[in-house]
Amino acid sequence: MSTKNCMYCNEPLEGRYDKKFCDSFCRSAYHNQTKTSTEAYIKNVNRQLRANRSALRKACPLGKATVRKSFLKTMGMDFKHLTHSWKSNGGNLYYFCYDYGYTPSVDPEKVVIIQQQGYMAGGFPPN
Ligand SMILES: [Zn+2]
Repeated sequence: MSTKNCMYCNEPLEGRYDKKFCDSFCRSAYHNQTKTSTEAYIKNVNRQLRANRSALRKACPLGKATVRKSFLKTMGMDFKHLTHSWKSNGGNLYYFCYDYGYTPSVDPEKVVIIQQQGYMAGGFPPN
């Protein structure tokens, strides 16, 4: 017969076969810990999204610009984090961080940045 351990304190569990925690203390401590790490993760992603938006905005002061990806990275951009995407009538897929987005350029080292317009679905400012 196998012994299970408490998911919080790792002590061996006795009693019911489906038990996961020693008691209500371990149960709530475990859930609080999980919630805290989830909150920290969300906070970090939000911080990165703001940094991305800021990098795109600074690199695109006139509403449209073609810039090097490496330049955006030095400005704090992390290409993994996005808020949404939008496909133009021409079929270009744009990746957005709030109201600024980019699409790959013909030059693989570069991206074309645009500021979101109202006619884009879910655009800012809304129509
Ligand atoms: Zn425990």
